[in-house]
Amino acid sequence: MRRRETAGGARVPTLIVHGGAGADPADGRDELRAGMRSAVAAGWRVLGDGGRAVDAVEAAVRALEDHPRFNAGRGAVLTATGTVELDASIMEGDRLRCGAVGAVRGIANAITLARRVMDDGRHVLIVGDGALQFARAAGMPECDPASLVTERQRGRWLDRERTAGAAGTASAAGTVGAVALDRHGTMAAATSTGGIFGKLPGRVGDSALIGSGTYADSTLGGVSCTGDGEAIIRVALARRALDYLKEADDATYAAQVAVDLLVEEGQGQGGLILLDWRGRAGYAHSTPLMPVGLMSPALPEPRLEF
Ligand code: ASP
Repeated sequence: MRRRETAGGARVPTLIVHGGAGADPADGRDELRAGMRSAVAAGWRVLGDGGRAVDAVEAAVRALEDHPRFNAGRGAVLTATGTVELDASIMEGDRLRCGAVGAVRGIANAITLARRVMDDGRHVLIVGDGALQFARAAGMPECDPASLVTERQRGRWLDRERTAGAAGTASAAGTVGAVALDRHGTMAAATSTGGIFGKLPGRVGDSALIGSGTYADSTLGGVSCTGDGEAIIRVALARRALDYLKEADDATYAAQVAVDLLVEEGQGQGGLILLDWRGRAGYAHSTPLMPVGLMSPALPEPRLEF
């Protein structure tokens, strides 16, 4: 079991949630704030009651998948052919257990499917039709793929068609993620996305890749990333952020150095949230806006930092 013991016994539970590094600061900030607040509340209902970190991050991410304003689940961006293909991953840091799905269609809550992959334990990553078959075998509800397409995303896609926009280059607003530490000292992290707008069908980004978009190790901390997926993959951002945390023992500094790495070596833009093993939070982004929400027993209500 990868866990550090502390003299005081129980750990202070802490939750941090992000709503994507690509958000437009001029566009519907109140709606973003309401969505973030309800996601932090959903995670905190689990964590604040003494529940497990892995259940809390799943609950927080599910709330944002269900919210049409975020690029995950319903409201996800469309591929070049106008479909929704979802990526998600989840990790629990006591035993480095993890699960992920890539390019999955017809499932509204990809994070719960990733969780099923983790709990099943045979594999870490299942993609495409295989992921859908796995979901069926696990008894997960399927949905009409069209029900995940919002007017907003359909409109964006139609505009792109009209102007023959460049494929797969625009970073998407609203990938979602959460990191939690529970009172037992277990760290968990989760990330879910529709990927980047206009991506090629079958493209899988960092949000499905353990070590790139998501990582949790209860002896170090947990991370969820957002931004240019190809760049995040190139620098294995989530795991690298924990290496910085190990070196510096400063969550804010580690987050900032990791984002500098993404920009300088990865040649991409984005951001990340992290918690260290004690529950200290850090986050950083190179983009104009990344919605962040936090909750711990010291706070009277979810704190939004955007
Ligand atoms: N990282 C996600 C991807 O490339 C997109 C995002 O975070 O905005 O699939």
